[in-house]
Amino acid sequence: MPLDELHRSDPRVAEAIGRLRAGEVVRDAGFDGEYGTIRVFQPAELARLRNGDSYSLFDDDLFAPEAPRQPVAAEPGPRPEPAEAPATAPEAPAHGILAGLDPDQRAAAGVPAGPLLIVAGPGTGKTRTVTHRLAHLVLERDVPARDCLAITFTRRAADELTERLHALIGPDADGISVGTFHSFGLGFLREHHDRLGLTAAFGVADTARKHEVLTEITGDETAARALARGLTDPEPADPAHAEAVARYRARLRELDLVDFDDLVTEPVRLLEADPQLTAAYRDRYRWITVDEYQDVDDTQYRLLRALAPPEANLTAIGDPDQAIYSFRGADVGFFLRFEQDYPTAPVHALTRNYRSGRHITDTAVRAIAPGTLVPGRTLHAASPREAHRVVRHDAADERAEAAFVARAIDGLLGGSSFLSLDSGRVTGDGPGGIGFDDIAVLYRTDAQSRVLLDEFARAGLPVQKRSHDPLSARAGVDLLLAELAHVADRDGSALDKLRAAATTVVFSVPDETQADVHGAVELLTPLAARCGDDLARFRREVLLGAEVDALDPRAEAISLLTLHASKGLEFPVVFLVGCEDGLLPLSWPGTAPTAEEIAEERRLFFVGVTRAQDHLWLTGAARRTRHGQVRDRTPSPFLTGLGDAVTRAEAPAPRKARATQLSLL
Ligand code: ATP
Ligand code: MG
Repeated sequence: MPLDELHRSDPRVAEAIGRLRAGEVVRDAGFDGEYGTIRVFQPAELARLRNGDSYSLFDDDLFAPEAPRQPVAAEPGPRPEPAEAPATAPEAPAHGILAGLDPDQRAAAGVPAGPLLIVAGPGTGKTRTVTHRLAHLVLERDVPARDCLAITFTRRAADELTERLHALIGPDADGISVGTFHSFGLGFLREHHDRLGLTAAFGVADTARKHEVLTEITGDETAARALARGLTDPEPADPAHAEAVARYRARLRELDLVDFDDLVTEPVRLLEADPQLTAAYRDRYRWITVDEYQDVDDTQYRLLRALAPPEANLTAIGDPDQAIYSFRGADVGFFLRFEQDYPTAPVHALTRNYRSGRHITDTAVRAIAPGTLVPGRTLHAASPREAHRVVRHDAADERAEAAFVARAIDGLLGGSSFLSLDSGRVTGDGPGGIGFDDIAVLYRTDAQSRVLLDEFARAGLPVQKRSHDPLSARAGVDLLLAELAHVADRDGSALDKLRAAATTVVFSVPDETQADVHGAVELLTPLAARCGDDLARFRREVLLGAEVDALDPRAEAISLLTLHASKGLEFPVVFLVGCEDGLLPLSWPGTAPTAEEIAEERRLFFVGVTRAQDHLWLTGAARRTRHGQVRDRTPSPFLTGLGDAVTRAEAPAPRKARATQLSLL
């Protein structure tokens, strides 16, 4: 439609569309857990538009495409827009990098040297604090970027940290090593491959390859699975088992392979056995930062202890109340003993939450109170977000629960049901500006996603589902990885090669496996796109990543995530489903969870609640089929004592528009 035609009905819309067409938009880079934002109007313009200042719409000055950005406040407190240093302007820090932080964040980020512990609640800006600290060190304290090592929990978080550091520091940020424990370990072993009898081009065995080697060693599948479970035991009591483990590792080395766990255990072994090597690494990485420190495991802890002696410049940042990975060996005890390990470390707390509305932070604090590991746990909502009540809904069964969620989404998007009946497809933003990518549905177990997927498919709602499992464990991924080796030398991007590999694989597997391959391609596509022409990086990301690393922030889709996978992320709208005893806390039929397990489940609930920015629903079912049996359910004990920040919702009546449309049809 021509702009002047639009202009007649609403000049604001005309202006907005005109800017979009010309690509004259404001791009704000994202943060840890937050997608970047593309805006059509500057904050100042918006404020004037909201004031109904329609005359100024024709003011050239107001709509000048190069309208100046809002300056970063000299004394930043909570502010209406999370103002960030411009993504492309490293000159901003000239006025003092730490000016971009609130007073508590600034105090923590400005600690000059030595060990430092930052105990920070959800949404209090850990990533912002960490990036500003590193930028401050490099730009204002002459710390060489190559002396800095930053360790994150996921590949996704590493990418975000890298981007944010670039925005603050500029090209020098390249010198900072950013990665997960496993990618650090991979780099380490590439340098010292000969010590393990590997070539420089050694590979990392994916799940399928690992299983093959285990089966070869043990002679049968059952024994292979048993051996796989015992691989991580550092001191196996059974000599036969120890011997089988040794044979497995030796065989891997013969094949020029390491497995995923080797990426951390082998560097630890080499460092602990060789003081000279340790000294060299301590010298190389004089500044170390670890995010999500509450979830380090024993081997990772030993690696850090080797790299960072008690006086080292080690910054540990995290939240003990978000320790949720003990089933993978993580131990929150390491966080709690940081002050013993690094006795000179000052401890800084961050309690101002910039993510969520007031009722959500209230609910979160009440939810964690009975089991908190942080003395005096508080969270103050600092964002000016509208404080929507948290809504609780009890459905009859899991189908009704899924239908409730779909209808609530429908209502949020506004009018989508009408469209979905019309065209079979739902599109676009709702009237409140909420899009599919603003919505997440979180659940305790992956199995719960099935009924949601069915219901959303029926309602025409697009989804992307991710778990916290390793990507390489997903069916079909191994086939694609193997085929990628054959197309590596062709021209084209990583994505082109993934597609080429997929075509070959799909034609060479039986029917029953083709769906797996399609699913795997879909999962890996955003990751491949992110890697550009760098196929080696793509293969590495697939081998080291978890499914959730392949979450596509640009996809117009509702995120379906396990609670574990949702760690570190944030969404304007969150549904936490299955708030029932037995699912949250999770228990297996016939067994009662231990007090420790229940405490961790409560933390998981806390993580889920604190992902929400504006809207949070807590839902459950009175009856549910689990393990093939229909059972009556009682509400999660975590729902008690949440206070009046939580309100109840009955199932809403089907929308009017839908009824009208149906009768017309
Ligand atoms: P989690 O424990 O869930 O990982 P976090 O502490 O890492 O949380 P972030 O994701 O870094 O929290 O920040 C949460 C939100 O708060 C982000 O949207 C970020 O932009 C915003 N934020 C952080 N600090 C500030 C600040 N000083 N001013 C405005 N917004 C901020
Ligand atoms: Mg975080």
